[in-house]
Amino acid sequence: MINSARQQRLIDEAKALLKQGKVRWIIGFEAGSLKFTTTPLITADAGDTSRLVINSFIVNNLSNFLPELEGRIGIVAKGCDSRSIVSLIQDSKVRREDVVILAVPCSGLIDLAKVEQLIGKDRDEIDAISRKDDKVIVTLAGAKREFSISEALYDNCLACELPTPQEYDILLGEPILPSNEPAAGQKKLDELKKMSPEARWQFWKKELERCIRCYACRNACPACYCQRCFVEETEPQWLLPIPHWQDNLMFQITMDIHVAGRCTDCGECQRACPVNIPLRSLTKEMYDIVADLFHFKAGMDKEALPLMTHYEQEEAEDLIG
Ligand code: SF4
Ligand code: SF4
Ligand code: SF4
Repeated sequence: MINSARQQRLIDEAKALLKQGKVRWIIGFEAGSLKFTTTPLITADAGDTSRLVINSFIVNNLSNFLPELEGRIGIVAKGCDSRSIVSLIQDSKVRREDVVILAVPCSGLIDLAKVEQLIGKDRDEIDAISRKDDKVIVTLAGAKREFSISEALYDNCLACELPTPQEYDILLGEPILPSNEPAAGQKKLDELKKMSPEARWQFWKKELERCIRCYACRNACPACYCQRCFVEETEPQWLLPIPHWQDNLMFQITMDIHVAGRCTDCGECQRACPVNIPLRSLTKEMYDIVADLFHFKAGMDKEALPLMTHYEQEEAEDLIG
């Protein structure tokens, strides 16, 4: 996804927005301190915009910052991020007139953990990682190795339904069509669905025993925006603060229910998890259930009412039946 002309255009547009007073803040990405990483850049200083980057590692869903900032905001958004922005607007958390969406058509992000597994080496030993069409090229000690995107992109990117934002003010580059690898993006879920209920229960018990209840998954999620989360309630106390696996499971199930109809399959929760719990296997299942039962996909149609604020008699009949 690296394209220096596109990156320069982003820098120019962001700088102009700040200098002309059209926005108070720019939210984008700058290079991270570690190899092959980026970090959010939130600035009100036009001089900082030269640090903005667009590459295959712009993982964060920046819409998460929108409800926190005062004033008009220029925000860099990939397709999934733009869906989250639309969803926040639908939920009256953000006003459309308060955001300038700098849209980045996105051909998918490289999953460093997958790359490390493919080459059997740590990221520090890699010289370069690049994209060429449907290949990911890894340079290691001067030698190049090629992998298909189905091997090296994030699962949610393989299943991406909206790589080019539909809602935007400035489009940075040519539109990109949706992924043609949805089956690869669904592989882990399919494996879990093939398990017996007992085996699946044991799988999740084992995974959730590793949860340290840091809430990074919740904090990274733009759809999870309650001022006071149920996990912090003490009357009643829904969960014990000690991370027993049963309470960890209850936390994940409740979070999935809370974001049903708002989750855009952006993958941020799983990426944020420090112990690599495969959370997308839960969130994507909920996303698919919402799509099947309610024919609703978050942030796809800005005219649609938020899922949980209305009902239709036919769907109620279906659910009861
Ligand atoms: S889900 Fe789609 S828009 Fe989002 S990062 Fe992946 S490919 Fe890009
Ligand atoms: S990010 Fe991972 S470890 Fe932290 S609360 Fe979420 S599932 Fe648990
Ligand atoms: S639950 Fe996960 S995948 Fe869904 S919107 Fe939140 S961070 Fe993104």
